[in-house]
Amino acid sequence: MGELVVGVDIGNSTTEACAARLAGAEVEFLGSGLVPTTGIKGTTANVDGVEAAVRAALRTSGVQLNRLKRVFVNEATPVISGLAMETITETLITESTMIGHDPRTPGGAGLGVGRTVAFAELDECSPGAEVIVVVPLGVDFAVVSKALNAALERGVGIRGAVLGNDDAVLVANRTSRPIPIVDEVRLVESVPLGMTAAVEVAAPGRTIRTLSNAYGLATVFGLDADQTRAVSPVARALTGIRSAVVVRTPSGDVSDRRIPAGALELQGSSARLRIDVGEGAEAIMAAVGRVAPLEDASGEAGTNVGGMLASVKQNMGDVSGVGSAEVRIGDLLAVDTFVPQEVRGGLAGEVALENAVALAAMVRTSHGPMQQVADAVAARLRREGAQDVEVLIGGVEAEMATRGALTTPGTDRPLVVLDLGGGSTDAALASRDGSITTVHVAGAGDLVTRLIAAELGVERDVAEEIKQSPLAKAESFFHLRLEDGTVLFSAEPLPPEVFARVVAMAPEALVPIPTRHSVDRIRDVRRTAKHRVFVVNALRALKQVAPYRDLRQIGFVVLLGGSALDFEIPELIAGALAPYGVVCGTGNVRGSEGPRNAVASGLVMAQAESVREVA
Ligand code: ADP
Ligand code: MG
Repeated sequence: MGELVVGVDIGNSTTEACAARLAGAEVEFLGSGLVPTTGIKGTTANVDGVEAAVRAALRTSGVQLNRLKRVFVNEATPVISGLAMETITETLITESTMIGHDPRTPGGAGLGVGRTVAFAELDECSPGAEVIVVVPLGVDFAVVSKALNAALERGVGIRGAVLGNDDAVLVANRTSRPIPIVDEVRLVESVPLGMTAAVEVAAPGRTIRTLSNAYGLATVFGLDADQTRAVSPVARALTGIRSAVVVRTPSGDVSDRRIPAGALELQGSSARLRIDVGEGAEAIMAAVGRVAPLEDASGEAGTNVGGMLASVKQNMGDVSGVGSAEVRIGDLLAVDTFVPQEVRGGLAGEVALENAVALAAMVRTSHGPMQQVADAVAARLRREGAQDVEVLIGGVEAEMATRGALTTPGTDRPLVVLDLGGGSTDAALASRDGSITTVHVAGAGDLVTRLIAAELGVERDVAEEIKQSPLAKAESFFHLRLEDGTVLFSAEPLPPEVFARVVAMAPEALVPIPTRHSVDRIRDVRRTAKHRVFVVNALRALKQVAPYRDLRQIGFVVLLGGSALDFEIPELIAGALAPYGVVCGTGNVRGSEGPRNAVASGLVMAQAESVREVA
């Protein structure tokens, strides 16, 4: 018979539960459930999620809520994390000097250099003049091609054209001589006239070669070394695209500024350091290492870093009921990234990749108001029909996690659990003598999603899809080219909305990715983001919990948590640990739950064991 109990683990993102029958020291696990956490972890807003998780666990167990006798919740160490992104460079064009964009369909191919003339003035050009024709929005392609052909006929050297409309291919097909044509230039009326300009269009599948090369620009425009240095940001902004126009205006001033990113103030137990975020991730992490253990951090007021750290502290203060002035930042992770940003002063919505630093910060306090949460859960479950349920705080999260992890077949102490969650990466070492050491480091799955979103310029939910599934391209209605190059045929025609698109191969469906980035580029961004967050954090966390900081002293590393479900993060971490001879793999709690449910299962097992000890 026994008593019906449920163990509940309230995480920052996910609330997990498992139902079991306890008879003395005997445990019989029945079923488990998992739902998104409601509210901030450790607050009474969690009650809805807990009820849902309990119900889910009972449903899979085939038992009624009114039979429930006891619920064990974890003594959560509230760990709150925050993310911020700080752009540290900016490309700024004060005079209009460049149009570099990727219209879907430029026309012609090659490089042309000439003086810019307005379409309306084409008739006045004398034979032999070398010109780039600038055509305003709204002029019909038939009119444009007719005028271009007439001018070519008269001997005018038309070297290229810039169009406001999306008509490059239509015009190119009707022009008697092939010329490079760039279209869809939003601010075509701002293109300076009477200036030397170069138009470059690459063949399909290629990118421009001359205007994206500083020395190419120097050759085309006859620049000296100083002038070349000044235009080199133009070359950088034009890298990797199929077509571009550069207009040389004498006063043209493109500058690549470093913008003050704000300083971080790091307080360690014995040292204090100030570091400019603009120095990049490596320098920041070195500083964090130098002041270790970090006791607090703050950012310069009025900057993104300052705002982010302040809001993390504020949140934490609200949750734990202590003033935000008493909240301390326990860890920081900085990651170098780059974000596409519109170039100020560009004419066609040009985008340049700017350097940025992403920061994850984590705050920890010793006690959250867990008893309040437990009481609220009890009240709710009683009202819902579990009349005599008792809700108990069952144990420390890290201890329960290692207990649960040790149910993974093939594991033994000394063992380190690496819990790869949403906000933080948590390590717990269970040594041979049973003692437990824990460490929490900032940065996990949410930061990976954020980096993918920023670097590719996509929404958060699209980035989440990209993170979780391999990519493919629907090359025809009946086959997909997978990211590893293999082809997958489909007996049924693929849905029309995925045709010729990059898709994420989610378990249930093909999710089209609204982007023009290639499969290879997206894959590269995805894997780099995972590496920069999880490999870096796994090594940071392990070095802090390992005895003598020597990773070879660890026998087994068990990966747990939502991000351990990822299709490549576990292998990236295992690869990084291979040189240390550690056994590393994704956990399989109770031999059946995969990397989920360790804490919830541990809570139930701890109860059974305490009975055993008493007996
Ligand atoms: P917590 O313990 O903080 O509640 P979780 O263990 O639920 O967090 O982990 C949440 C993270 O796991 C999120 O960043 C989410 O994107 C990620 N995640 C969940 N499922 C998957 C999956 N199948 N593949 C990759 N990442 C996943
Ligand atoms: Mg968790």
